[in-house]
Amino acid sequence: MSSIKILGAYSTKEYNHGTSSYLIEPSIALDAGNLMRPLGRNAAKIDHIVLTHCHMEHLADIPFLIDAFFAKRNTPLNIYGLEHTLANLKRHIFNGEVWPDFTKIALLNSHAPSIIMHTIKEYKPFCIKNVSFKPIPALHAVPTVGFVITKRKTAIYITSDTCYSQTVWNEINENGSIRAVIIECTYPSAMSEAAKIHGHLTSSMVIDGISKCHRKDIEFFVSHINPKMERTIIQELLNSPLTANVTVLKDGDEINF
Ligand SMILES: [Zn+2]
Ligand SMILES: [Zn+2]
Repeated sequence: MSSIKILGAYSTKEYNHGTSSYLIEPSIALDAGNLMRPLGRNAAKIDHIVLTHCHMEHLADIPFLIDAFFAKRNTPLNIYGLEHTLANLKRHIFNGEVWPDFTKIALLNSHAPSIIMHTIKEYKPFCIKNVSFKPIPALHAVPTVGFVITKRKTAIYITSDTCYSQTVWNEINENGSIRAVIIECTYPSAMSEAAKIHGHLTSSMVIDGISKCHRKDIEFFVSHINPKMERTIIQELLNSPLTANVTVLKDGDEINF
C-alpha cells in the first residue's frame, strides 16, 4: 500500500487552512501552496516539485523554500510544469524583481543552478525516483493538468483545479490502476455560474460526476474548498446519498491507496 500526505487542502489561505500541496514522498511535492509551515525543517528534503498550473495558491511557497535552503543544498531544486506554468513562474516571480532569478544563481556548494525547470506535456508520463506521473488535462481558467500518480503499481488521481470535464471522468472510469481520486470542489451548488467562469466545481457538479461514475471501487476525496464556504459545501456533499464513499480533506490528512 502507498500513501500521500495532504499539506494544504484549501483554495485560499486562512488560519489553519493551507492551500494546495501534497507530499508524495519525503523529497517530492505536488504543488507548493503550503510547504514551509507543515514540513518545518523537513522542507529542506524537497528536491522535486511538480506543478499543476501557475495559480498563486499552488506555487506560493517555492520562492521561500529555495531562499531558505539554497545555501545548504548540494543539488538543484527541480520544478516540473507545463510550458505555460513555467513561463509564468519565470516572468512573474523569479524575474529578478519580485524575487531573485534562482535559475541563474549557482548553489554555494556546487556550480549547479539553484533551480532547474523541466517542461512536461499533457498525457506524456514521466518518473521521479520510482513514482510515475501521468498529466491529464483539466478544464480551468489557465492551462492545467491533474496527475495520475502511480506508486508500487497502484495509483491516485489528483484532478487539480477543473470544471466538469468528461476527460477527467473518462480517466477515472477507464484507468483500472486508480484506487483513489482527489477531486476539487471550490464552491457550493448555488455558485455554478462562477464555477463555470473560473473553471471550478460546485458540490452538485461533484455529486453529479460521482453518480455517473462506473467505478464503484474508488474512494473519493474532496479538496480545494473555499474556507469561507466550507460548512455549506460539506453539508451539500455529505447530505447526498450518492457520496457515501466521499471524504472531505483537511490539512494534515493522509491517504492510503
Ligand atoms: Zn487552485
Ligand atoms: Zn487554479
